[in-house]
Amino acid sequence: MTAAAPVLVVEDDAQMRRFLRSSLGAHGFEVREAATLGEASAAVRAHPPELVLLDLGLPDGDGLDLLRDLRMTSRIPVIILSARGREAEKVTALDAGADDYLTKPFGIGELLARIRVARRHVSGAGGPAAPEVMGAGPFRVDRGRHEVTVDGGPVHLTPIEFELLAVLVQHAGRVLTHRQLLRHVWGPEAVGETHYLRVHMATLRRKLERDPARPQWLVTEPGVGYRLRDASPATD
Ligand code: CA
Repeated sequence: MTAAAPVLVVEDDAQMRRFLRSSLGAHGFEVREAATLGEASAAVRAHPPELVLLDLGLPDGDGLDLLRDLRMTSRIPVIILSARGREAEKVTALDAGADDYLTKPFGIGELLARIRVARRHVSGAGGPAAPEVMGAGPFRVDRGRHEVTVDGGPVHLTPIEFELLAVLVQHAGRVLTHRQLLRHVWGPEAVGETHYLRVHMATLRRKLERDPARPQWLVTEPGVGYRLRDASPATD
């Protein structure tokens, strides 16, 4: 893995920083550290990182303030690492522009998987343009032909189901909040209409999942949104 730019770890817990420095370092990442919001802002200005791992509870403020500042000018991937596990806090962070959210404690394997997903999306993050043909897990979505296949077999989806699956495939492995999905598929005036999503996700699962009651691919993040798995659950 080539790490041209460093990963910036924003974390006030020295033990956590040490853990991240050594485990990410062992996987080829150059790691920079900031223990406060002030240090983090200075570090971002001095040497823009490739990715930011951001704690929320910092001695001089809330990590979300840094995230919001960053998002005014930059699409650098940001993964929140926080002990705050409440749904509302995850939703707030993701809606504020975080790419993903890990609740402490987490394993390094899970963090590396999320980092891989976040970096993969960087190249396409400058604009809304998605590739014509995208794939994740058993799914292939061809926007040009408006076709979907599951394990090579064609499936007929309604336009809304198609758009919903397409955006989940485009961001496979990443949780998308209800608001993000509603805004993308139905438009900004529909961001409160969570029941649209429930209904269409149910029909999508009936068409795509072997056991729609126990979905393997279209995973619910309770109270937050949905995530399309990008690898078979059996090999996770
Ligand atoms: Ca903290």
